[in-house]
Amino acid sequence: MIPISSVSIGTEEEELVLEVLRSGRLAQGPMVERLEQEFQDWAGTEHVVAVSNGTVSLVAALEALQLPRGSEVVTSPFTFVATLNAILEAGLTARFGDIDPIDFALTPESVESVGGERTSAVMPVHLYGQGADMLAFDSLAASRGWALVEDAAQAHGAQVQGRQVGSFGVGSFSLYATKNLMSGEGGLVTTNDAAVADRLRLIRNQGMRARYQYELAGHNFRMTELQAAVALPQLARLEAATKRRVHNAERLSEGLAGIPGLELPTVIPGRTHVWHQYTVRVTGESGRTREEVADTLTERGVGSGFYYPRPVYDYDCYRGHPQVVIEDHPVAQQVSEEVLSLPVHPKLSDADLDTVIAAVRGAFDAN
Ligand SMILES: *Cc1c(COP(=O)(O)O)cnc(C)c1O
Repeated sequence: MIPISSVSIGTEEEELVLEVLRSGRLAQGPMVERLEQEFQDWAGTEHVVAVSNGTVSLVAALEALQLPRGSEVVTSPFTFVATLNAILEAGLTARFGDIDPIDFALTPESVESVGGERTSAVMPVHLYGQGADMLAFDSLAASRGWALVEDAAQAHGAQVQGRQVGSFGVGSFSLYATKNLMSGEGGLVTTNDAAVADRLRLIRNQGMRARYQYELAGHNFRMTELQAAVALPQLARLEAATKRRVHNAERLSEGLAGIPGLELPTVIPGRTHVWHQYTVRVTGESGRTREEVADTLTERGVGSGFYYPRPVYDYDCYRGHPQVVIEDHPVAQQVSEEVLSLPVHPKLSDADLDTVIAAVRGAFDAN
C-alpha cells in the first residue's frame, strides 16, 4: 500500500532526543529556544513562540491579540476542525466566508460581505500548502481595523508575493505527525509585533512573568524539549523535503493531465505551493463519485483521503452552538463533496508516483 502520508525520522533525531534524555531536562528549555531561533531565521519573522500543538497555537494567537470577548472571527468553512475549535476555545464567535475553488482558501470578497460591526479578526487558512490571497487580506484587515491571524498549519515555507506565510499577520504552524514539519505534536506562533510576542510567552506559561508573578490568566501551552529535539533535524531537512514534494506534484500533474471530470490542483501566479496535500476534484463530468475513485485506488494499493468531507460546521455539535454562525457557503459545500487527496509526500519514489498515476487513470478508464 502506498500511504497518503509518511514520516522520515533519522539518526539526527535519535541523537538529539538522547541528548535531551541524558540532560535530565525534559520540560521547556534550551532545545525549545533553539527551535524558536532556527524557525525565526528560516521563516523571517521577528518572533517565534513554540507551544505544545497547532490548535493551542491558534488559541494563543487569538488570545494574544486581546480581541473583545464574543466578537466574530471570520474564517474558512473548508478547513480542519481545529481552526473552528480554537476560535471557540478563545471565547470568540466563528463566522465564515466562502472559498475559491482554485486555491481552496477563503476569499477576501466573501469576508468583506459577512464582516461587520462585530468582526474583530479575519483568519484565512493556507490549505494544502498554498498561501491564501494574503495581500488582499492584509489590506482588507488594515482598512477595517481587523486583526489578521494566519492558520499556516499546512503551509510551512509557502510564499505569497515573495513573503512567507505567517509573516503577514500572527501566524500559526502545526508540527503534528503528518505535517510538512513535524515533531509528533507541536506548534509555533510567529509575529513581528513585540507586544504580541510578549503576551504569547505569558499565555504559554500560566501568565507568569517571573516566578509567581502572574500578569494574566494563562495556560500551560509549553512545548517539551523532546518535541524540539525531533523538530530541529526535521527543520534542517525541510527545504529538501519540500523540493521533493514539488517534484512529486509536478509528476502527478503531468501524468494526470487531460482526464475529463478530474480537476488538477493549480499553483496561482505569485504564490508557491509546499504540497502538504495534492488534492484533485472529481466533478460531475467524470460520471463517478470521489468515493468510487477512492475505492478503486484502495483496490490498487494507493492510499487517498477526503480533506475535508463537509464544511467544518456541518456537524450536530456546531448546529445551534451559541458561538457558531452558520450561513450558506455553496462553493465550500460543493468542493467538500468533490475533493480527493493523493499521496505526494517526500518518501514516494518516481515508480510509486507512476503507480499512483496508473491507478487514478484506471479509476477513470483513462489508460
Ligand atoms: C493540523 C491543523 C491544525 C491543528 O494542528 P494540531 O497540531 O493538530 O493541533 C489547525 N489547522 C489546520 C488547517 C490543520 O491542518
